[in-house]
Amino acid sequence: MNQAGNLAYDVFVNDPPPQDGFLPNGEPKRFSPMASTLIYGSEDAVLTDPGMTEDQARVLGDWVAAKDRNVTDIFITHGHGDHFFAAGLLAERFGARVVATDGTIAQMHGSVATRPLLWDKLYPGLIPSSPVTAVTVPDNRVALEGHDLVMVDVGHGDAEDNSVLHVPDLGLVVAGDVIYNGVHMYLGASAAAGGFDAWRTAIDKVEALGPRHIVCGHQNERLDDDAKRTIEQTRQYLDDADELLRTENTAVGYFNAKIERYPDHLGRLILWVTARALYGVREHPGENPAQITLSSWL
Ligand SMILES: [Zn+2]
Repeated sequence: MNQAGNLAYDVFVNDPPPQDGFLPNGEPKRFSPMASTLIYGSEDAVLTDPGMTEDQARVLGDWVAAKDRNVTDIFITHGHGDHFFAAGLLAERFGARVVATDGTIAQMHGSVATRPLLWDKLYPGLIPSSPVTAVTVPDNRVALEGHDLVMVDVGHGDAEDNSVLHVPDLGLVVAGDVIYNGVHMYLGASAAAGGFDAWRTAIDKVEALGPRHIVCGHQNERLDDDAKRTIEQTRQYLDDADELLRTENTAVGYFNAKIERYPDHLGRLILWVTARALYGVREHPGENPAQITLSSWL
């Protein structure tokens, strides 16, 4: 828990759902840990990125309920399904509104459209009904007991139209999947974007907000939330990816080399999906990158 006056935040890291299949090194496929943040005053609270499956919604909901606050809003950082498919269940349980930027809402509709081709194949029967109910708010701002919570568009990260939640009074940025913390980064969408420069620009925008603390959408719960360290390590991970893309000739080579450099990073499923997408797009220049990226999950 971190606190400023009557305002505080706390983070819950949810376990990944069960999944079939194995990685090239023989490990079972498992999604990354998923972090939700509760920002709260003495009575009200705002929740971020409530996860994907019914099970995740239940355990997160129980954790939120134990805080005994009135959840007014649920903020979604970006349109990937792992960050919002469970939003409806949480919104219903707490009588909360779901909020996001314009760009994120458009991306959420895209994820609902690809859900049967991707998410329901990976996690059949585990994901609840997920209509997009998110709304925008004036000036991308939500008030929580007199404190401003500001949704900031930062552009391309692991998806298009990423946003982050800036809470100036806490020195906090809830960064979704723009910044990572001890977890392999999903770089698949960067293949279609022509590299990592747009992502680096998004990191600069987060840094310009001057946060002391960053909560990442995927983080190792044993690590702290120091903004300077997580920003530096996220930049370094992209630089390393660029280097390995030059020195490794195959997806498996990239996968193994990243594990060698980051032996303690969680989320090796995402590392493998990323490797397949990056090398798949490179090896099939005439084909649709979005289709290659999709099939690299399956
Ligand atoms: Zn994610």
